[in-house]
Amino acid sequence: MPRQIVLASRPTGWPVAENFDMTEEPAAELADGQVRVRNLFMSVDPYMRGRMNDAKSYVPPFQVGQPLEGAAIGSVIQTRSPDLAEGDMVMHILGWRDEAVLEARHAQKVDPLPGLPPSAYLGVLGTTSLTAYVGLLDIAGLKPGDVVFVSGAAGAVGSVAGQIAKLKGASLVIGSAGSDDKVRWLRDIGFDVAFNYKSAPVYDQLREAAPDGIDVYFDNVGDDHLEAALSVLRRGGRVAMCGAIANYNVARPVPGPRNMGLVITKRLTLRGFIITDHQDRNPGMLADVTGWLRDGQLQHSETVIDGLDNAVGAFLSLLGGGNTGKMIVRL
Ligand code: NDP
Repeated sequence: MPRQIVLASRPTGWPVAENFDMTEEPAAELADGQVRVRNLFMSVDPYMRGRMNDAKSYVPPFQVGQPLEGAAIGSVIQTRSPDLAEGDMVMHILGWRDEAVLEARHAQKVDPLPGLPPSAYLGVLGTTSLTAYVGLLDIAGLKPGDVVFVSGAAGAVGSVAGQIAKLKGASLVIGSAGSDDKVRWLRDIGFDVAFNYKSAPVYDQLREAAPDGIDVYFDNVGDDHLEAALSVLRRGGRVAMCGAIANYNVARPVPGPRNMGLVITKRLTLRGFIITDHQDRNPGMLADVTGWLRDGQLQHSETVIDGLDNAVGAFLSLLGGGNTGKMIVRL
């Protein structure tokens, strides 16, 4: 019988394995217009932690006792829709399960690109790169010559954001990550400077990397990273507020940066965004990203965990920094 992972209970603070359960259900009959998809890869993402809370946000919370959802890619194995045939590769949002039954109109057909695994659509050819692209170019308004700092730089979005900054003419790109191995990898893929935020205060390391200041901060982390960036930003600097993962697992909200007054005196712009509002930029992103991949100008990495049994472990590991590049579960 097909298996799925349900939310067993809502976490307080860091989630634990007991917050999840694996259940089996008989395969559902297909209605007209529906397809059955054998999931091949699913994504685990930081935003899923927010959906585990019973709180109103830009996506509805997961419900206790109900299957989790998230981006997945798979192969159509049965169809009652004229729009999709058996064997079609599709992307959809019913991850966290072996098989998905859904309306064909909710599945997006994708054509695997030569040299790239289908999972690339969950990362470098998908939301990951769109977030990096829009955040950097539209939200932060990157200009040639800018000095750019990216936090969470060895993760999916951060690693692409730093490379796009270089490709679009940044004069210096600095990244922070949580291990020396990740720091080495960041230098390998083209970051000019990278530092391990666990080995010394972020402010000290950022100031040393950019003694004359930064123009753009791509924020995946919040907290100490945002406070340090505010101190080091130059007058008129811009911040793309992409994520705040340092606060996703706190049981109570923590006070923000202590130096917010600098936003006024330095005329800074801090702008948040949610990528689903920017789908119109997908064709432009794909044109650029496929070109850069083809020419070897953009590197990407996946950390692949095997099996639905290990999907919860992959998610927990992601929150703790167990991934380099995009965290993927192969089903
Ligand atoms: P990542 O691949 O970057 O994985 C999360 C990473 O966060 C971990 O690998 C870990 O790396 C790092 N991390 C965890 N805790 C901390 C901490 N306390 N301080 C610093 N780093 C930490 O995930 P994504 O690329 O998918 O997402 C990156 C960010 O972008 C997230 O904040 C996410 O919520 C956000 N996002 C926002 C979107 C939007 O529409 N605004 C869309 C997609 C993502 P390390 O080892 O370096 O600590």
